[in-house]
Amino acid sequence: MQEYIVSARKYRPMTFDTVVGQSSLTTTLKNAIATDKLAHAYLFCGPRGVGKTTCARIFAKTINCLSPKENGESCGECESCRAFDQGRSMNIHELDAASNNGVDDIRELNTQVQIPPQIGKYKVFIIDEVHMLTTAAFNAFLKTLEEPPSYVIFILATTEKHKILPTILSRCQVYDFSRMSVENTIAHLRNVAQQEGYTTEDEALQLIAEKADGGMRDALSIFDQMVSFTSGNLTYEKVCASLNVLSTEYYFKLVDYFLSQDVPSCMLLFNEVLNKGFEGGNFIAGLASHMRQLLVAKDTATLPLLEVSERTRERYCEQAKKCDTKFIYRAIKLCNECDQSYRQSHNKRLQVEICLIQCAQITAGDDISGSGRCPEKILKPIFSLAMQSQLASPRNVVQVQKPIQQTTNTETKEITRASIPTANPVASAVVPKMKLRNLGPSIKLSTTQQASHTTIQETRSLSNEDKPFTQEKLTFEWHTYVERLPIERRAMAMRMKNMMPKLINDTTFEIVANNEQIAQYLQNMKEGILKSLRQNLMNSQIQMLIRIAEIQEVQHISSKPALYQKMVEKNKNLQKLTELLKLEIC
Ligand SMILES: [Zn+2]
Repeated sequence: MQEYIVSARKYRPMTFDTVVGQSSLTTTLKNAIATDKLAHAYLFCGPRGVGKTTCARIFAKTINCLSPKENGESCGECESCRAFDQGRSMNIHELDAASNNGVDDIRELNTQVQIPPQIGKYKVFIIDEVHMLTTAAFNAFLKTLEEPPSYVIFILATTEKHKILPTILSRCQVYDFSRMSVENTIAHLRNVAQQEGYTTEDEALQLIAEKADGGMRDALSIFDQMVSFTSGNLTYEKVCASLNVLSTEYYFKLVDYFLSQDVPSCMLLFNEVLNKGFEGGNFIAGLASHMRQLLVAKDTATLPLLEVSERTRERYCEQAKKCDTKFIYRAIKLCNECDQSYRQSHNKRLQVEICLIQCAQITAGDDISGSGRCPEKILKPIFSLAMQSQLASPRNVVQVQKPIQQTTNTETKEITRASIPTANPVASAVVPKMKLRNLGPSIKLSTTQQASHTTIQETRSLSNEDKPFTQEKLTFEWHTYVERLPIERRAMAMRMKNMMPKLINDTTFEIVANNEQIAQYLQNMKEGILKSLRQNLMNSQIQMLIRIAEIQEVQHISSKPALYQKMVEKNKNLQKLTELLKLEIC
């Protein structure tokens, strides 16, 4: 039986040109060799499995080649090259600092350093994971690193550059190896598959490349696993199942459900995913990255960021066309929020389901309001509509507000009220305990209650228990009323906030409007305003006069200098202060 060699070893590059994904770096090394400008020490940094050791070996082999090629590569045929290829060269020493990090190991290495090479020009010492050396070992090594014999070259490799001491960094030429791109990994895997006679789908290789996360060695070992699992036929579905990766198919379907506001299908799909043994948190993270891919696919400028196979790219572009950018933003935000609260949540499944429901309602918001806002905002117009209808019919306001007057009034009032025959005695008995005005105007009372209140109102006007109130209380209640105006009246509310109701006798106050239009608005609102004030100030005699401001009254607030003049008229000291501090009014 033929010996099985793992792909990572079998397809380990033997020349600089066959190293995948590090072309600029290998070119620099080749040039250094060609021009004979070799340093004594190199530091190769980068994530695991990106070719650091491989490059170090190729480098050692190339500088020792007896008849190097013109392009800077080794010949692969001379005695030295063959010794390297067969792993019996005495010119290369590898030390894994992760397991040999003691002083004794370094002493051993120092001894080796003293022996010149038998064949070839250089002895190359590769120290892998050099950051793992102990301090003692490191100090023992430092001397040799500083002044090695002319035939010695050190190649230090590390995955954690930040752990390398400055004393080492300053003595080495540093090369940063980059993570493998998904594209490069796929191309290499495809190449290996072709040589081995396996059939592969690009999407399957894509999955492997993504799982390997930039490491070629990892990618090749996953690839080997998949080959044995699928008997050399690497389809997307099989690889998905084997790697326990959730197929992107689910996410494509899910987004379609979102767009058609199909909440039940979303829930069923999530249930299916859970039944397959996937975790909700990962599912949401996957959904977030799917939405990100859609966002990237939406714009031709960002399309290159989409590291996927051609067929998948087309699918993303196709789905992205159906999605509004706002929808994508909003969905990403929802996924992100869900992801953040997921770990703390006691009901994780519900957490994900809420997120899915919200996503499915994003486009529903478009249909109703055309604003593309979040689902909870859809509720607002409905709520304010209810408020509007109540304001439009003042009778309702009366019905809601009248009982409160009763609640806050004296006991004698209570008695009067209790003596009135009502259709619903229970309701009238209960109502006084509640402060309805705190609950807002959307509360509707039953018709029986309304009937009883109307009766109460009549009795109330008969009673003569109006309470006196101060300017201060009036101002306070005015502002309370303004604060409670619905959102559509925001502009008017802003104006009213700046108006000051002025008490001109015990029960009548004056309000000054800047112009006729505002006066008309106020006139329209008068009934509602008075109902509120009469009720809250407990005085049924309150009257409101609306006056249009005199021209100079309006002018004095039209500009800041004018306002300043007005203030100076009232207080001359202000002018002194302005002059003293050399202030300018602009
Ligand atoms: Zn050679």
